[in-house]
Amino acid sequence: MSFCIAPFLKINHDLTGNYRPCDFHDEFEGEYKTPEECFRSPEMELMRLDMIHGLIRDECSNCHKLEDVGIKSRRQHFNEMYPDEIFELKMNPRVRFPIKDLEMSFDNTCNFACVTCSPTYSSQWEKELGVIEKATCDLNPEIVKNLKHLTLLGGEPMLSKRAYTQEFFKTMHENFDFENALLVLYTNNSIQPKGHWYNLLKKVKNLIVFCSLDGVDEVGEYVRFGHNQEIFDYNYRIWKGFADTRIAFTTHIMNIFQVNKMLERYDEVDFQTLHSPKYLNPSILPAHIKDMILQHDDSVGSLAVCLLTIRTFRV
Ligand code: SF4
Repeated sequence: MSFCIAPFLKINHDLTGNYRPCDFHDEFEGEYKTPEECFRSPEMELMRLDMIHGLIRDECSNCHKLEDVGIKSRRQHFNEMYPDEIFELKMNPRVRFPIKDLEMSFDNTCNFACVTCSPTYSSQWEKELGVIEKATCDLNPEIVKNLKHLTLLGGEPMLSKRAYTQEFFKTMHENFDFENALLVLYTNNSIQPKGHWYNLLKKVKNLIVFCSLDGVDEVGEYVRFGHNQEIFDYNYRIWKGFADTRIAFTTHIMNIFQVNKMLERYDEVDFQTLHSPKYLNPSILPAHIKDMILQHDDSVGSLAVCLLTIRTFRV
């Protein structure tokens, strides 16, 4: 089965003005000024038609590769999230929804420079590697009213000044469905929720906070420059007090031996595959190094074994 509901209701927007239907898919080719413009574009509609006609799209191969080795894919995850919409589409393939699922970052303001990151997502890397051209994504009341799922990424969202200048909090307080919609926040967990952020997040009934952590103790501090394990654990307990809090662990070459350690230390770990940079993707390791890793049985989980064989990076 190849059908995915994502292109019918979801859109991801990054700071450089690129749009995708999900984080596993390449960016769309067209240049769009707003999420709505991309969502209504012919290339997104073409993707929907491919889904309706059961075509297996090359651009969606990352999902199929994961499914082939028994790992839950984004496709399966989205299809589980939106059974009503899938039913509606089955009844009437011409039906089209508004954007119900939006993933966005305000800007790249961040106090970390992680090995897997880039200027698009970290102002620290931008300082290091040069200024990037930025687009903006302002939430308008119409989009917010229709959302069933909003994911906020950074930079570090809670350090973003744009969240204030674009009246994000007012728009959210007036239009977001606090009872039913899901809000997902990704944070580097270096700061605690306070002020406007705290007042907003405490109203959300379905709140999931992903604290990014790509290794414990010295490994975590090495691969996520700016991370401090003690501060992380302290703040993690605070988040646990008022939100469904999970760890987002992006698995790469420098932390592949940390899989079991993460599982021992934290109860909710979401293993995420690395798309870029390619040189940190475990699947590019030479065969003899992969064998060495697999022989290191005690510290490599079955997930790591799969990650060694699947090429999830973008080229
Ligand atoms: S099948 Fe996978 S890659 Fe394609 S749109 Fe759906 S979630 Fe994204």
